[in-house]
Amino acid sequence: MRLRPTHLRARLTLWYVSVLAGLLALGWAGTCTLLFLQLRSQLDRFAIEEIETVEGLFYFDAAGTLQMRENYHNHPESKEVIDRYVEVLSPAGAVLFRNEKLGNRPLGGAPFAGEGIGGYSQRTARLSDGTRVRLVSRVHSLDGRTLLIRLAHSEEPLYVRLNDLLLASLLVLPIVLLAAGIAGYGLARRALNPIERMARHAEEITAERLDARLPDDDTDDELGQLARVFNETLARLEQAFDQLRRFTSDASHELRTPLAMIRSVGEVGLQKDGSREEYRDIIGSMLEEVNRLTSLIDNLLTISRADSGHLQLHKTVIPVMALAREAAGLFEILMEEKSQRLILDGDEKAQLEGDRIFLRQALVNIIHNAVKYSPVGETIALYVRREDAGRVVVEIRDRGPGIPAEDQHKVFDRFYRVDKARWRESGGAGLGLAIAKWAVEAHGGSLTLESKVGEGSTFRINLPAAGVDASFLPPVTAHASRST
Ligand code: ADP
Repeated sequence: MRLRPTHLRARLTLWYVSVLAGLLALGWAGTCTLLFLQLRSQLDRFAIEEIETVEGLFYFDAAGTLQMRENYHNHPESKEVIDRYVEVLSPAGAVLFRNEKLGNRPLGGAPFAGEGIGGYSQRTARLSDGTRVRLVSRVHSLDGRTLLIRLAHSEEPLYVRLNDLLLASLLVLPIVLLAAGIAGYGLARRALNPIERMARHAEEITAERLDARLPDDDTDDELGQLARVFNETLARLEQAFDQLRRFTSDASHELRTPLAMIRSVGEVGLQKDGSREEYRDIIGSMLEEVNRLTSLIDNLLTISRADSGHLQLHKTVIPVMALAREAAGLFEILMEEKSQRLILDGDEKAQLEGDRIFLRQALVNIIHNAVKYSPVGETIALYVRREDAGRVVVEIRDRGPGIPAEDQHKVFDRFYRVDKARWRESGGAGLGLAIAKWAVEAHGGSLTLESKVGEGSTFRINLPAAGVDASFLPPVTAHASRST
């Protein structure tokens, strides 16, 4: 059987009532103990005063027997003798006197060593009939003989008072706890109401309704904070979903275009009988589209792996000039065709620690753009330098058409092209810079652009040099996102 209440408010109330009951019990026990100790010390004080009074009533008769004054009933002190238990012993323990109230019952047994000597001894004892008594004793000297006088009060009235108090508490406690429980339940309900409202709202949020938000009363309490954190998470989710949707639709669109080209070229080729030369041309342009498709799919794969965090960086120490030389070398033929010139200059000692393949890819993408977009006969320059604070900077400058200021921050977005009409001539899908930015940022670096229309562009890669602590690097999932 499950005893734990399912509702948080019931559990809170239960906790609250239990803690309150515990505290009340503790308070009650403390009060009783204090009260008992106080009353008992009062009894001790009375007993001490009374012992001093009864001492004066004893005398030895001619036969040497201890007697109490005959007419003590007429004395004002008589009350102390009649209402209390009084016993007088010799130091050896022989009973010399017992008052009427005590009768034949012993009071405290044989004397213990030092009892009543040099002051009053107090203790609790029981009579033979079970009566609890508080006993005070004191040694007294009479006619040269030593007497041990014991005087006791019954403790029973104390216990009766304590029992009365317990009974009253037992009657009152359930009423107090019930009232506290009802009030606590109401408070818990009120405090938890906003959470229930939030849960109802959250239930309505689905993948199709990620723009919905939880009501946020703009308060600084825990619930306001919870709503804000939840809403921020939702906003991030919505952004990620949007990005994914856009990426999928952009990717499908990019894939469709070369496929449609292959298809139409193929259909045209099938419709007419052509010469061997014509078929060659047709197959050639189909292969060109296939190449385009292959590089597009490669880029898409890199991006989706980067997004899912499945790309591992295999870091080695890389001489930056050698890497730049290698990347630029891939475009030798293309540059020759366009009569372009390459300047590669800088610090041969500059080194960085990173994944050679991804960093080379970043450089290749940027240099490829410089070659693609620069006109015939222009110069493309690559500079490598070391900076203070352990950074390495690679600059790729071209004297191409430049990028308008309003497009400069968008060129790193996925599928973004400045000149949408002429993209098939340059052949890019708008992924090159997004991948370059991701690769640089995954190494704890930054990729920035300076450009002026008509004057050219400078892409600047800034990376930590080899040997610099890379623990601050962001996770590999860092990627460029397409802004809206
Ligand atoms: P693409 O593969 O289309 O070149 P990128 O992501 O590499 O895609 O570049 C995005 C867009 O930025 C390009 O379509 C182009 O319009 C612009 N761009 C990039 N580099 C340069 C450059 N060096 N000069 C002029 N425009 C550039």
